Amino acid sequence: MNGILYIIATPIGNLEDLTFRAKRILETVDWIACEDTRHSSILLNHYGIRKPTISFHSHSGVTKVEKIIEALVEGKSVALISDAGTPGISDPAYVLIQAALKDKIQVVPVPGPSAVVTALCASGLPTDKFLYLGFLPVKKGRQTLFKAIADSPYTVVFYESPHRLLRTLSELEKVLKRDTQLAVAKELTKIHETFFRGTVADIQKKLPAGNPKGEYVVMVKPN
Ligand code: SAM
Repeated sequence: MNGILYIIATPIGNLEDLTFRAKRILETVDWIACEDTRHSSILLNHYGIRKPTISFHSHSGVTKVEKIIEALVEGKSVALISDAGTPGISDPAYVLIQAALKDKIQVVPVPGPSAVVTALCASGLPTDKFLYLGFLPVKKGRQTLFKAIADSPYTVVFYESPHRLLRTLSELEKVLKRDTQLAVAKELTKIHETFFRGTVADIQKKLPAGNPKGEYVVMVKPN
């Protein structure tokens, strides 16, 4: 009988944010497929989980996917985890899940943290409907997407790297109505967790001077 592929959400900063179920499954699977085995060893050591790990990341080729699928077909159970949060949410998982489903392997999600929902739920912006854009394109399609954000009838959420945050906010300011409200979540679940709320101009004033550091989620209220 085929094994099961578990898609397990792991903490986005605070190691306490691993669910009991995630821990139990990580302790019982045959293999843990990690985006970065060294990075995940911090979490696994913290919980005393000792299981064989295998790397699976965005550059993993067909051979790696085949190796994991082979193990599943032989009846091994595999847990997929990413560096942080939910695999598949701006993290590798899709190719492996597609291959597993093609071979009639059961894929079981084990829910937990994701920066998009963590940021949104405390943002103070409407959460009944939202549009998640992952990371914005760096070049092609960027302006089109900015226009779509300005016109969106839903709260728009996206991830941004610290070294592009200020540039993105300035570019956004040009397309948004002047009083459009935003929320920027920094370092969620970590010691320096901060929410910056207000217009782009308000947030620019509140952000620490110099090059921002840390991890950020940007949210824009619909007009
Ligand atoms: N799979 C992850 C999830 O479920 O949220 C997302 C992985 S993506 C490669 C990494 C991006 O998520 C970061 O650049 C940042 O924009 C956002 N992110 C992850 N952890 C975060 C945190 N603790 N605080 C704020 N943003 C975070």
